[in-house]
Amino acid sequence: MIRARVRVVLAGAGHAHLGVLKHAGALRAAGVEPILVAPPTFHYSGLATAVLSGALPPGRALLDVAALAARFGVPHLPAEVRAVDRGARRLHLSDGRDLAYDAVSFNIGSITDAGSDLPGEGETWPVKPLSGLAGLRARLDDHLADGVSPSILVAGGGPTGFEVAAALAGRVERAGLSPRVLILGRSAPDWAPDQALERLSAVLQRRGILQVSGEATSRRPGEVLLSDGRALPCDLLVLATGLRAPGVIADLGLPLSEDARLAVGPTLQSTGDPRVFAVGDCAVITGSPRPPAGVFGVRAAPILARNLAALGTGAPLATYAPQSRWLSILDLGDGTGLALRGRFWSLGRGALMLKRRLDLGFVDGLRAASGEVLED
Ligand SMILES: Cc1cc2nc3c(=O)[nH]c(=O)nc-3n(C[C@H](O)[C@H](O)[C@H](O)COP(=O)(O)OP(=O)(O)OC[C@H]3O[C@@H](n4cnc5c(N)ncnc54)[C@H](O)[C@@H]3O)c2cc1C
Repeated sequence: MIRARVRVVLAGAGHAHLGVLKHAGALRAAGVEPILVAPPTFHYSGLATAVLSGALPPGRALLDVAALAARFGVPHLPAEVRAVDRGARRLHLSDGRDLAYDAVSFNIGSITDAGSDLPGEGETWPVKPLSGLAGLRARLDDHLADGVSPSILVAGGGPTGFEVAAALAGRVERAGLSPRVLILGRSAPDWAPDQALERLSAVLQRRGILQVSGEATSRRPGEVLLSDGRALPCDLLVLATGLRAPGVIADLGLPLSEDARLAVGPTLQSTGDPRVFAVGDCAVITGSPRPPAGVFGVRAAPILARNLAALGTGAPLATYAPQSRWLSILDLGDGTGLALRGRFWSLGRGALMLKRRLDLGFVDGLRAASGEVLED
Protein backbone atom coordinates (compact mmCIF):
# COMPACT_ATOMS: atom_id res chain seq x y z
CA MET A 1 0.00 0.00 0.00
CA ILE A 2 1.28 3.47 -0.87
CA ARG A 3 1.85 5.60 2.23
CA ALA A 4 3.39 8.64 0.57
CA ARG A 5 4.41 9.94 -2.86
CA VAL A 6 8.18 10.20 -2.84
CA ARG A 7 10.66 11.64 -5.36
CA VAL A 8 13.96 9.77 -5.35
CA VAL A 9 16.87 11.18 -7.32
CA LEU A 10 19.37 8.58 -8.53
CA ALA A 11 22.68 10.47 -8.80
CA GLY A 12 25.06 8.66 -11.16
CA ALA A 13 24.46 5.66 -13.39
CA GLY A 14 26.96 3.35 -11.70
CA HIS A 15 26.56 -0.42 -11.49
CA ALA A 16 23.87 -0.34 -8.77
CA HIS A 17 21.68 2.35 -10.32
CA LEU A 18 21.83 0.61 -13.71
CA GLY A 19 20.30 -2.35 -11.87
CA VAL A 20 17.77 -0.17 -10.01
CA LEU A 21 16.44 1.13 -13.35
CA LYS A 22 15.09 -2.36 -14.04
CA HIS A 23 12.98 -2.07 -10.88
CA ALA A 24 11.47 1.28 -11.93
CA GLY A 25 8.00 -0.25 -12.38
CA ALA A 26 8.02 -1.66 -8.84
CA LEU A 27 9.21 1.69 -7.49
CA ARG A 28 6.37 3.56 -9.17
CA ALA A 29 3.88 0.97 -7.91
CA ALA A 30 5.18 1.73 -4.40
CA GLY A 31 4.61 5.47 -4.87
CA VAL A 32 8.24 6.29 -5.59
CA GLU A 33 9.08 8.45 -8.62
CA PRO A 34 12.73 7.87 -9.64
CA ILE A 35 14.68 10.50 -11.61
CA LEU A 36 18.17 9.77 -12.93
CA VAL A 37 20.86 12.48 -13.01
CA ALA A 38 23.87 11.09 -14.87
CA PRO A 39 26.13 11.61 -17.89
CA PRO A 40 24.49 10.05 -20.97
CA THR A 41 27.23 7.44 -21.45
CA PHE A 42 28.53 4.86 -18.99
CA HIS A 43 32.15 3.66 -19.33
CA TYR A 44 32.26 0.05 -18.13
CA SER A 45 35.47 -0.55 -16.15
CA GLY A 46 35.55 -4.32 -16.72
CA LEU A 47 36.37 -3.71 -20.39
CA ALA A 48 38.36 -0.46 -20.01
CA THR A 49 41.77 -2.10 -20.21
CA ALA A 50 40.68 -4.29 -23.15
CA VAL A 51 39.96 -1.09 -25.07
CA LEU A 52 43.23 0.48 -23.86
CA SER A 53 45.26 -2.48 -25.11
CA GLY A 54 43.45 -2.55 -28.45
CA ALA A 55 41.92 -5.99 -27.83
CA LEU A 56 38.41 -4.53 -28.20
CA PRO A 57 37.07 -1.49 -30.06
CA PRO A 58 36.20 1.58 -27.87
CA GLY A 59 32.45 1.27 -28.34
CA ARG A 60 32.43 -2.18 -26.70
CA ALA A 61 32.89 -0.67 -23.21
CA LEU A 62 30.20 2.01 -23.54
CA LEU A 63 26.56 1.92 -22.51
CA ASP A 64 23.80 4.30 -23.59
CA VAL A 65 22.42 5.44 -20.23
CA ALA A 66 19.77 7.65 -21.82
CA ALA A 67 18.35 4.71 -23.82
CA LEU A 68 18.28 2.47 -20.74
CA ALA A 69 16.48 5.10 -18.65
CA ALA A 70 13.98 5.71 -21.45
CA ARG A 71 13.34 1.97 -21.80
CA PHE A 72 12.27 1.79 -18.14
CA GLY A 73 10.37 5.08 -18.23
CA VAL A 74 12.73 6.88 -15.85
CA PRO A 75 13.19 10.61 -16.51
CA HIS A 76 16.89 11.25 -17.20
CA LEU A 77 18.72 14.55 -16.79
CA PRO A 78 22.09 14.33 -18.62
CA ALA A 79 24.10 16.20 -15.99
CA GLU A 80 26.13 15.70 -12.82
CA VAL A 81 25.18 16.57 -9.26
CA ARG A 82 27.56 19.33 -8.20
CA ALA A 83 26.28 20.21 -4.70
CA VAL A 84 23.58 19.28 -2.24
CA ASP A 85 21.58 21.55 0.06
CA ARG A 86 20.39 18.95 2.56
CA GLY A 87 18.44 21.49 4.62
CA ALA A 88 16.31 22.57 1.63
CA ARG A 89 16.51 19.06 0.07
CA ARG A 90 17.72 20.40 -3.26
CA LEU A 91 20.43 19.28 -5.65
CA HIS A 92 22.47 21.71 -7.76
CA LEU A 93 23.27 20.24 -11.16
CA SER A 94 26.11 20.89 -13.61
CA ASP A 95 23.65 22.26 -16.19
CA GLY A 96 22.61 25.01 -13.75
CA ARG A 97 19.32 23.43 -12.76
CA ASP A 98 18.11 22.84 -9.21
CA LEU A 99 16.21 19.67 -8.36
CA ALA A 100 14.11 18.97 -5.26
CA TYR A 101 14.27 15.50 -3.64
CA ASP A 102 12.65 13.53 -0.87
CA ALA A 103 15.56 11.08 -0.93
CA VAL A 104 18.75 10.94 -2.98
CA SER A 105 20.90 7.92 -3.80
CA PHE A 106 24.54 8.32 -4.84
CA ASN A 107 26.25 5.81 -7.13
CA ILE A 108 28.86 8.14 -8.61
CA GLY A 109 31.96 5.94 -8.43
CA SER A 110 35.43 7.27 -7.69
CA ILE A 111 38.17 9.50 -9.07
CA THR A 112 41.95 9.25 -8.97
CA ASP A 113 43.40 10.87 -5.88
CA ALA A 114 44.46 14.32 -7.14
CA GLY A 115 46.97 14.65 -4.30
CA SER A 116 49.11 12.16 -6.22
CA ASP A 117 49.80 14.52 -9.16
CA LEU A 118 53.43 15.59 -9.44
CA PRO A 119 54.80 19.12 -9.69
CA GLY A 120 56.69 19.85 -12.89
CA GLU A 121 56.09 19.99 -16.62
CA GLY A 122 54.21 17.47 -18.70
CA GLU A 123 50.91 15.73 -19.21
CA THR A 124 49.58 13.33 -16.58
CA TRP A 125 47.01 10.62 -17.20
CA PRO A 126 44.89 9.60 -14.20
CA VAL A 127 43.17 6.21 -14.63
CA LYS A 128 39.84 7.66 -13.45
CA PRO A 129 37.48 8.92 -14.67
CA LEU A 130 37.64 6.17 -17.29
CA SER A 131 36.61 8.59 -20.05
CA GLY A 132 40.14 10.08 -19.76
CA LEU A 133 41.76 6.83 -20.95
CA ALA A 134 40.80 7.69 -24.55
CA GLY A 135 43.26 10.60 -24.42
CA LEU A 136 46.02 8.35 -23.05
CA ARG A 137 45.36 5.83 -25.81
CA ALA A 138 45.55 8.55 -28.47
CA ARG A 139 48.81 9.95 -27.06
CA LEU A 140 50.39 6.48 -27.02
CA ASP A 141 49.20 5.91 -30.60
CA ASP A 142 50.95 9.15 -31.66
CA HIS A 143 54.26 7.69 -30.45
CA LEU A 144 53.56 4.30 -32.04
CA ALA A 145 52.66 5.93 -35.38
CA ASP A 146 56.22 7.39 -35.38
CA GLY A 147 57.58 3.89 -34.80
CA VAL A 148 58.62 4.75 -31.21
CA SER A 149 57.92 2.75 -28.06
CA PRO A 150 57.73 5.52 -25.43
CA SER A 151 58.90 5.17 -21.83
CA ILE A 152 55.72 4.64 -19.81
CA LEU A 153 55.68 5.13 -16.06
CA VAL A 154 52.65 3.92 -14.12
CA ALA A 155 52.67 5.39 -10.61
CA GLY A 156 50.82 3.04 -8.28
CA GLY A 157 51.58 -0.60 -7.49
CA GLY A 158 48.05 -1.82 -6.83
CA PRO A 159 46.08 -4.15 -9.10
CA THR A 160 44.86 -1.24 -11.24
CA GLY A 161 48.44 -0.01 -11.79
CA PHE A 162 49.53 -3.50 -12.88
CA GLU A 163 46.51 -3.98 -15.15
CA VAL A 164 46.89 -0.59 -16.84
CA ALA A 165 50.65 -1.13 -17.30
CA ALA A 166 49.99 -4.52 -18.92
CA ALA A 167 47.27 -3.04 -21.16
CA LEU A 168 49.57 -0.25 -22.39
CA ALA A 169 52.30 -2.82 -23.03
CA GLY A 170 49.76 -4.87 -24.99
CA ARG A 171 49.03 -1.88 -27.22
CA VAL A 172 52.77 -1.39 -27.88
CA GLU A 173 53.14 -5.10 -28.68
CA ARG A 174 50.20 -4.93 -31.11
CA ALA A 175 52.15 -2.21 -32.96
CA GLY A 176 55.06 -4.65 -33.35
CA LEU A 177 57.31 -2.83 -30.85
CA SER A 178 58.86 -3.80 -27.49
CA PRO A 179 57.24 -2.19 -24.42
CA ARG A 180 59.26 -0.03 -22.02
CA VAL A 181 57.02 0.18 -18.98
CA LEU A 182 57.82 0.83 -15.31
CA ILE A 183 55.41 0.31 -12.42
CA LEU A 184 56.39 2.55 -9.52
CA GLY A 185 55.10 1.52 -6.08
CA ARG A 186 55.89 2.80 -2.60
CA SER A 187 56.46 -0.76 -1.39
CA ALA A 188 56.39 -4.32 -2.70
CA PRO A 189 52.86 -5.31 -3.76
CA ASP A 190 50.85 -7.42 -1.31
CA TRP A 191 47.37 -7.47 -2.91
CA ALA A 192 47.57 -11.11 -4.07
CA PRO A 193 49.15 -14.34 -2.79
CA ASP A 194 52.98 -14.24 -2.92
CA GLN A 195 53.22 -17.00 -5.53
CA ALA A 196 50.73 -15.23 -7.81
CA LEU A 197 52.68 -11.97 -7.57
CA GLU A 198 55.98 -13.76 -8.28
CA ARG A 199 54.52 -15.42 -11.36
CA LEU A 200 52.95 -12.16 -12.50
CA SER A 201 56.24 -10.27 -12.06
CA ALA A 202 58.08 -12.90 -14.09
CA VAL A 203 55.66 -12.82 -17.04
CA LEU A 204 55.52 -9.02 -17.04
CA GLN A 205 59.31 -8.74 -16.86
CA ARG A 206 59.64 -10.91 -19.97
CA ARG A 207 57.41 -8.39 -21.78
CA GLY A 208 59.46 -5.36 -20.69
CA ILE A 209 57.27 -4.31 -17.74
CA LEU A 210 59.45 -3.79 -14.67
CA GLN A 211 58.67 -2.86 -11.07
CA VAL A 212 60.49 -0.14 -9.13
CA SER A 213 60.08 0.82 -5.46
CA GLY A 214 60.27 4.47 -4.59
CA GLU A 215 58.48 7.76 -4.05
CA ALA A 216 58.01 10.10 -7.00
CA THR A 217 58.46 13.74 -6.03
CA SER A 218 58.56 15.74 -9.26
CA ARG A 219 59.04 15.51 -13.00
CA ARG A 220 60.84 17.23 -15.83
CA PRO A 221 60.64 16.56 -19.58
CA GLY A 222 61.30 12.86 -20.20
CA GLU A 223 61.91 11.99 -16.53
CA VAL A 224 60.31 11.49 -13.13
CA LEU A 225 62.46 12.22 -10.08
CA LEU A 226 62.32 10.10 -6.92
CA SER A 227 62.88 11.18 -3.31
CA ASP A 228 66.17 9.24 -3.18
CA GLY A 229 67.59 11.24 -6.10
CA ARG A 230 67.05 8.63 -8.83
CA ALA A 231 65.53 9.69 -12.16
CA LEU A 232 63.30 7.32 -14.15
CA PRO A 233 62.65 7.69 -17.90
CA CYS A 234 59.09 8.84 -18.56
CA ASP A 235 57.39 10.01 -21.75
CA LEU A 236 53.90 9.08 -20.52
CA LEU A 237 53.01 9.36 -16.83
CA VAL A 238 49.95 7.41 -15.70
CA LEU A 239 48.50 7.84 -12.20
CA ALA A 240 46.98 4.76 -10.58
CA THR A 241 47.73 6.00 -7.11
CA GLY A 242 44.48 5.31 -5.35
CA LEU A 243 40.83 6.22 -5.66
CA ARG A 244 38.64 8.52 -3.63
CA ALA A 245 35.01 9.58 -3.80
CA PRO A 246 34.17 12.64 -5.94
CA GLY A 247 34.22 15.92 -3.98
CA VAL A 248 30.43 16.23 -3.78
CA ILE A 249 30.46 13.38 -1.23
CA ALA A 250 32.86 15.12 1.19
CA ASP A 251 30.82 18.33 0.79
CA LEU A 252 27.63 16.64 2.06
CA GLY A 253 28.73 17.34 5.63
CA LEU A 254 27.96 13.74 6.60
CA PRO A 255 30.15 11.10 8.29
CA LEU A 256 32.89 9.77 6.02
CA SER A 257 35.21 6.79 6.19
CA GLU A 258 38.96 7.33 6.66
CA ASP A 259 39.38 7.29 2.86
CA ALA A 260 36.67 9.98 2.40
CA ARG A 261 33.81 7.76 1.17
CA LEU A 262 30.31 8.21 2.56
CA ALA A 263 29.80 6.09 5.67
CA VAL A 264 26.57 4.09 5.25
CA GLY A 265 24.86 1.42 7.31
CA PRO A 266 23.69 -1.98 6.01
CA THR A 267 20.45 -0.39 4.72
CA LEU A 268 22.72 1.71 2.42
CA GLN A 269 21.66 4.95 4.14
CA SER A 270 24.14 7.53 5.38
CA THR A 271 24.81 7.07 9.08
CA GLY A 272 24.01 10.80 9.45
CA ASP A 273 20.97 11.30 7.18
CA PRO A 274 18.43 8.57 6.34
CA ARG A 275 17.32 10.49 3.21
CA VAL A 276 20.78 10.00 1.66
CA PHE A 277 21.65 6.57 0.25
CA ALA A 278 24.97 5.62 -1.34
CA VAL A 279 26.42 2.50 -2.99
CA GLY A 280 29.55 1.39 -4.85
CA ASP A 281 32.95 3.08 -4.75
CA CYS A 282 31.64 6.37 -3.28
CA ALA A 283 30.42 4.64 -0.09
CA VAL A 284 31.66 2.28 2.61
CA ILE A 285 29.40 0.11 4.72
CA THR A 286 30.58 0.79 8.26
CA GLY A 287 32.22 -2.35 9.60
CA SER A 288 32.36 -4.03 6.15
CA PRO A 289 34.90 -2.06 4.05
CA ARG A 290 35.62 -3.49 0.60
CA PRO A 291 38.04 -2.44 -2.16
CA PRO A 292 36.68 -0.64 -5.23
CA ALA A 293 34.99 -3.18 -7.53
CA GLY A 294 31.86 -3.14 -9.62
CA VAL A 295 30.54 -6.39 -8.17
CA PHE A 296 29.50 -4.79 -4.88
CA GLY A 297 27.26 -2.29 -6.63
CA VAL A 298 25.73 -5.01 -8.79
CA ARG A 299 24.91 -7.13 -5.73
CA ALA A 300 23.57 -4.15 -3.77
CA ALA A 301 21.15 -3.10 -6.55
CA PRO A 302 18.12 -5.25 -5.57
CA ILE A 303 18.46 -4.29 -1.88
CA LEU A 304 18.73 -0.61 -2.81
CA ALA A 305 15.67 -0.86 -5.07
CA ARG A 306 13.71 -2.55 -2.28
CA ASN A 307 14.70 0.08 0.28
CA LEU A 308 13.86 2.97 -2.04
CA ALA A 309 10.44 1.37 -2.64
CA ALA A 310 9.98 1.09 1.13
CA LEU A 311 10.12 4.91 1.34
CA GLY A 312 6.73 4.88 -0.36
CA THR A 313 5.14 1.95 1.42
CA GLY A 314 6.70 2.19 4.87
CA ALA A 315 7.82 -1.45 4.63
CA PRO A 316 10.80 -2.41 6.83
CA LEU A 317 14.19 -1.82 5.22
CA ALA A 318 16.35 -4.73 4.07
CA THR A 319 20.08 -5.00 4.82
CA TYR A 320 22.99 -5.70 2.50
CA ALA A 321 26.10 -7.59 3.60
CA PRO A 322 28.86 -7.52 0.95
CA GLN A 323 30.40 -10.92 0.32
CA SER A 324 33.73 -11.59 2.07
CA ARG A 325 35.30 -13.29 -0.98
CA TRP A 326 34.91 -12.18 -4.57
CA LEU A 327 36.38 -12.96 -7.97
CA SER A 328 38.54 -10.33 -9.64
CA ILE A 329 40.36 -10.90 -12.93
CA LEU A 330 43.11 -8.68 -14.32
CA ASP A 331 43.33 -8.42 -18.10
CA LEU A 332 47.07 -8.61 -18.86
CA GLY A 333 46.70 -7.16 -22.35
CA ASP A 334 48.28 -10.09 -24.21
CA GLY A 335 45.39 -12.56 -24.28
CA THR A 336 45.99 -13.77 -20.71
CA GLY A 337 44.54 -12.80 -17.34
CA LEU A 338 45.19 -13.21 -13.62
CA ALA A 339 42.16 -14.48 -11.68
CA LEU A 340 42.06 -13.96 -7.90
CA ARG A 341 39.55 -15.14 -5.33
CA GLY A 342 40.72 -15.22 -1.72
CA ARG A 343 43.88 -17.38 -1.70
CA PHE A 344 42.98 -18.99 -5.06
CA TRP A 345 44.67 -17.68 -8.20
CA SER A 346 45.14 -18.69 -11.82
CA LEU A 347 47.18 -17.00 -14.54
CA GLY A 348 46.66 -17.75 -18.22
CA ARG A 349 44.29 -17.66 -21.17
CA GLY A 350 41.46 -19.40 -19.30
CA ALA A 351 41.30 -16.57 -16.74
CA LEU A 352 40.89 -13.96 -19.47
CA MET A 353 38.28 -16.03 -21.32
CA LEU A 354 36.23 -16.16 -18.13
CA LYS A 355 36.62 -12.41 -17.62
CA ARG A 356 35.49 -11.64 -21.16
CA ARG A 357 32.46 -13.90 -20.82
CA LEU A 358 31.39 -12.21 -17.56
CA ASP A 359 32.08 -8.62 -18.68
CA LEU A 360 30.62 -8.88 -22.18
CA GLY A 361 27.64 -10.70 -20.66
CA PHE A 362 27.06 -7.81 -18.24
CA VAL A 363 27.29 -5.12 -20.92
CA ASP A 364 25.26 -7.04 -23.50
CA GLY A 365 22.57 -7.80 -20.91
CA LEU A 366 22.12 -4.09 -20.27
CA ARG A 367 22.24 -3.27 -23.98
CA ALA A 368 19.55 -5.83 -24.72
CA ALA A 369 17.48 -4.43 -21.83
CA SER A 370 17.73 -0.96 -23.38
CA GLY A 371 16.31 -2.32 -26.64
CA GLU A 372 19.59 -2.16 -28.58
CA VAL A 373 19.90 -4.77 -31.31
CA LEU A 374 23.10 -6.73 -30.70
CA GLU A 375 25.07 -7.61 -33.82
CA ASP A 376 27.77 -9.95 -32.52
C1 LIG B 1 41.46 0.89 -15.38
C2 LIG B 1 40.48 0.31 -14.39
C3 LIG B 1 40.03 -0.98 -14.57
C4 LIG B 1 39.12 -1.55 -13.67
N1 LIG B 1 38.69 -2.81 -13.89
C5 LIG B 1 37.78 -3.35 -13.06
C6 LIG B 1 37.26 -4.66 -13.30
O1 LIG B 1 37.67 -5.35 -14.25
N2 LIG B 1 36.31 -5.13 -12.44
C7 LIG B 1 35.86 -4.37 -11.38
O2 LIG B 1 35.01 -4.84 -10.63
N3 LIG B 1 36.34 -3.16 -11.13
C8 LIG B 1 37.28 -2.63 -11.93
N4 LIG B 1 37.76 -1.38 -11.68
C9 LIG B 1 37.22 -0.63 -10.54
C10 LIG B 1 35.93 -0.03 -10.97
O3 LIG B 1 36.16 1.05 -11.86
C11 LIG B 1 35.10 0.52 -9.86
O4 LIG B 1 35.24 -0.20 -8.68
C12 LIG B 1 33.62 0.47 -10.28
O5 LIG B 1 33.45 1.11 -11.53
C13 LIG B 1 32.79 1.18 -9.25
O6 LIG B 1 31.47 1.10 -9.65
P1 LIG B 1 30.44 2.18 -9.19
O7 LIG B 1 29.14 1.61 -9.57
O8 LIG B 1 30.67 2.56 -7.78
O9 LIG B 1 30.76 3.49 -10.06
P2 LIG B 1 31.13 3.70 -11.57
O10 LIG B 1 31.10 2.45 -12.35
O11 LIG B 1 32.40 4.50 -11.59
O12 LIG B 1 29.94 4.63 -12.09
C14 LIG B 1 29.72 5.91 -11.57
C15 LIG B 1 29.00 6.74 -12.59
O13 LIG B 1 28.61 7.98 -11.99
C16 LIG B 1 28.88 9.07 -12.86
N5 LIG B 1 29.13 10.25 -12.04
C17 LIG B 1 30.28 10.64 -11.45
N6 LIG B 1 30.10 11.77 -10.74
C18 LIG B 1 28.80 12.09 -10.87
C19 LIG B 1 27.98 13.15 -10.35
N7 LIG B 1 28.48 14.08 -9.54
N8 LIG B 1 26.68 13.19 -10.69
C20 LIG B 1 26.15 12.23 -11.51
N9 LIG B 1 26.86 11.21 -12.02
C21 LIG B 1 28.16 11.13 -11.70
C22 LIG B 1 30.09 8.61 -13.67
O14 LIG B 1 30.10 9.27 -14.91
C23 LIG B 1 29.85 7.10 -13.79
O15 LIG B 1 29.14 6.80 -14.98
C24 LIG B 1 38.68 -0.79 -12.56
C25 LIG B 1 39.13 0.52 -12.38
C26 LIG B 1 40.02 1.07 -13.29
C27 LIG B 1 40.51 2.47 -13.06
